Amino acid sequence: MINVAIDGPAGAGKSSIAKAASKKLGFIYVDTGALYRAIALNAVRFNAVDDNDALVKMLDSTSISLTFDESGAQRVILNGEDVSSLIRTPEISMSASKISAVPQVRAFLLELQRDIALKNDVIMDGRDIGTVVLPKADVKIFLTATPECRAQRRYRELIEKGENVTFEEVLADVNQRDYLDSNREIAPLRPCEDSVIADTTGKNLDESVEMIIDIIKGECDERI
Ligand code: C5P
Repeated sequence: MINVAIDGPAGAGKSSIAKAASKKLGFIYVDTGALYRAIALNAVRFNAVDDNDALVKMLDSTSISLTFDESGAQRVILNGEDVSSLIRTPEISMSASKISAVPQVRAFLLELQRDIALKNDVIMDGRDIGTVVLPKADVKIFLTATPECRAQRRYRELIEKGENVTFEEVLADVNQRDYLDSNREIAPLRPCEDSVIADTTGKNLDESVEMIIDIIKGECDERI
């Protein structure tokens, strides 16, 4: 199996780029942020986002799985309910950043992620895939872009979805999530020593996908 780990801050384009690159290579694309978002949604429902004890207790009655359809699209299932669209809101983004700092939450999701990578050729994206989840990944990429560029992309996505937000709010959000993700004690967001840094500032989707595929092929040689 070939495992590609892509980490990087919110809005670097990880999911769109990893999705398109996976399709071209015939790999499964695993969006691990969706797992944290599903836990965040459950925590919002249980009023447990800011209450660690309640959050940890909630995990006992939480079941999460990922399914992939023929086109490779990922759905996230929370306690039997497909919550794939419900988890894409600014409230859940912020709650996911909070609950993901709790060690028990990270431990809860670890085996699920490793299991998928064991059985499939994957491009897996997240914050700690190269550092913690798949430290032996064949290829590790740290995908980044300036905060302004990342906020601009997120802003466009949210406006297209009809969300009522300003660019300044989205930029503040990006900066706050960067701070939370990079400064938490457990699995902070950072490149590993053996990751290739890929900067997508000023690059469109096609150019970014090409850059990623070149990196993957370069690292895996004749295996792809
Ligand atoms: O990638 P996405 O924006 O969907 O992730 C939501 C949140 O989940 C991130 O801000 C981050 O705090 C957390 N996350 C994480 N580790 C991962 C994936 C996401 O901590 N592997």
